[in-house]
Amino acid sequence: MNNLQTNQSRAAECLLEIQRRDQDNRILKQNLVELLAADDFTPVYELADRIRHETVGDEVHIRAIIEFSNICARQCKYCGLNCNHQGIDYYQMTAEEILTTAERAIHAGYKTIVLQSGENPKLNKRWMGHVIKRIVDMGAVVTLSIGELSRQELEFYRECGAERYLLKHETADPEIYAYLHPCGTLEQRTGCLRSIRELGYETGSGFMIGLPGQTLETIAEDLILLKELGCKMAGIGPFIPHPDTELADEAAGSPELTKRAVALTRILIPDANLPVTTALGVVEKSGGQKSPDETAGADRAENAFACGANVVMKKVTPDEYKEAYEIYPAQLDKTNIEEDRKLLEQQILALGRIPV
Ligand code: SAH
Repeated sequence: MNNLQTNQSRAAECLLEIQRRDQDNRILKQNLVELLAADDFTPVYELADRIRHETVGDEVHIRAIIEFSNICARQCKYCGLNCNHQGIDYYQMTAEEILTTAERAIHAGYKTIVLQSGENPKLNKRWMGHVIKRIVDMGAVVTLSIGELSRQELEFYRECGAERYLLKHETADPEIYAYLHPCGTLEQRTGCLRSIRELGYETGSGFMIGLPGQTLETIAEDLILLKELGCKMAGIGPFIPHPDTELADEAAGSPELTKRAVALTRILIPDANLPVTTALGVVEKSGGQKSPDETAGADRAENAFACGANVVMKKVTPDEYKEAYEIYPAQLDKTNIEEDRKLLEQQILALGRIPV
């Protein structure tokens, strides 16, 4: 047997093993590491795509994301909204601006509105609750992504009608977590995620690929943690260095490794909603894969969707605020809620998938 065959049959064995239920986490971790490092990942992508087709079908959910405020009290080392940064042009959209944007998005066909912001401990709870209720009344599902909250706050927003919550654990390695987050611990983050789940939210977590100090073992632990937390959504994206942060000179995360992690998540949590992250689009764009013809977006989407993903997030944040929400540097096109949605639908259809 030549080397390639040995590798392939070992990959197949790992795959079979990770699909087995109640597997010892130590063995699972070793198998995940081997798969992440595989020379030929094709069989894993194929399996992930098949599982995606069989469990969540061919639909691609397009979610509208409104980045309603960049005010943040935290100091996450990778993030452009770190409160120690100078020169952030702070904004908070008014309730009316948020609701008008949501209404336009719903009218354009979006069924889920993701409300995202920095973590602002002074956020007015009644105001936020009111915004959630009004969007729910418009007939949309509300997903929150506003950082770590107390159990009482989470409970209140749940009662106001928010159904899903996104809070990435960022990294499952407690030491890397502590280094990157002077304001919190991994335990607090996972504690918050457990509350989110207990309160009946559809729970979303996720992590970055390419963080300083991260190894394939860390990524395997990230994948196992997603499963342990009972996540039904997982956002996995490459780290992108922001020039105004301490991590400015670090390398960006690998798009290939990101897609491998998405594929393995699909296998570990077959019915999960897995977005192709906007950060992935950023890396692939700057990686020179942009082609001038109309299908460029679809090509990128295909790269990203073929790994088991079934969700895409589209910014509908008004242009006047979009640039100030700079978590990582990205080339931003002007927002046209209706046109952007139509284009995405066409691109998804061109891939033989069903936009919803
Ligand atoms: N304040 C909210 C929303 C955070 S922003 C919260 O804490 O949950 C959404 C995500 O952007 C973060 O969870 C993080 O994974 C990602 N992010 C931040 N900076 C990044 C960077 N430099 N590169 C890639 N992703 C980044």
